[in-house]
Amino acid sequence: MTRSVRICLLPGDGIGPEIMREAVKVLRAVGERWDVGFELSEALLGGIAIDETGSPLPAETLAEARAADAVLLAAIGGPKWDTTDPAKPRPEQGLLGIRKELGLYANLRPVRIFPPLRGASSLKPEALEGVDMLIVRELTGGLYFGERGREADSPGAATGGGAGRRAYDTLDYREYEIERIARTAFEAAAGRRGRLHSVDKANVLESSRLWREVVHEVARDYPGVELIDQLVDNTAMQLVRQPAQFDVMVTENMFGDILSDEASMLTGSLGMLASASLGDGTALYEPSHGSAPDIAGLGVANPLAMLLSVEMMFRHSLGMPEAADTLSGAIARTLDDGYRTRDIADETTDPAMLVGTVEMGDLVVARL
Ligand code: NAD
Repeated sequence: MTRSVRICLLPGDGIGPEIMREAVKVLRAVGERWDVGFELSEALLGGIAIDETGSPLPAETLAEARAADAVLLAAIGGPKWDTTDPAKPRPEQGLLGIRKELGLYANLRPVRIFPPLRGASSLKPEALEGVDMLIVRELTGGLYFGERGREADSPGAATGGGAGRRAYDTLDYREYEIERIARTAFEAAAGRRGRLHSVDKANVLESSRLWREVVHEVARDYPGVELIDQLVDNTAMQLVRQPAQFDVMVTENMFGDILSDEASMLTGSLGMLASASLGDGTALYEPSHGSAPDIAGLGVANPLAMLLSVEMMFRHSLGMPEAADTLSGAIARTLDDGYRTRDIADETTDPAMLVGTVEMGDLVVARL
């Protein structure tokens, strides 16, 4: 074996373990073909971790994740652990906790249309021609992490509104936070079609004016990348008007939260969306969907978002772009051949081509 790679697997809850098994199948097949030894260690996160240890993010899980070359997460959560009691642990604390502990400041979400699935989108098929974008969202700063507060009774003389409750959140960015996310985005654009939209609200917000300044300073190091500034309200509109104009988009935490959900719906299917969260250490890869408790255990979950997360891991953490291309090609061919899980089937799907989780995984592996 020429190379050994350590991967921490977090199957989690609901359909998590089912789709993770398909990811492991792909890893074994790729390992054989590319002569890479994948050392896989499984750890607890989310609801199952609460059941077995009392904590949604046990210390051993964090240690395993830190020691690995990459972390693959399936999904966590479910009605069993839903609680409004703040004293009780919740599965989501495990997810937020591991992102924070690993310092994952950049969230990458590719939005790509697989031509056979064009009908699943709410947009007209013509509008989707050529859509292939990557959204780079800042994940540990901005409006979600700035100073916030409440005042029970605030004098409102200035507005003439009288006294009343007051709440505020602060959109706060430091230069280094903007610089590192900008570099992540420029690097990504340089490896793609060389076009970067930096999305801000510089006509109103001071934090956006600093964002724009720093992004332009970083741009000097990437003369091959075309940089376009775009206001966030315009971007929201352009995403549904002419989505193919975007190659890579980089933006602040909350803008990215909203725009990435908008963009993901261009594909029309939650079961096809992968994501990567990168920092300075171990990166984490996961599908964008949740644990789908409504179909857990039925063997019908779509494993492709999980497999596309594996593809991102090959590309961004393991330096295996050929394996990544091969895997995405295998997924595309499986869809071209007409195979569908329930969530991506429509009235034109031949019932004989309707497959379950395990079969979909086998079909992809057979095409690798
Ligand atoms: P969800 O994404 O789990 O499910 C939404 C709908 O999409 C469901 O009908 C589900 O069956 C379907 N779906 C999702 N993934 C699918 C797949 N791979 N194949 C086929 N169908 C799929 O969102 P939800 O129902 O709002 O949340 C369920 C649980 O997941 C909650 O406990 C929530 O907190 C958790 N959640 C976890 C994550 C995560 O682990 N990152 C993200 C979102 C939600």
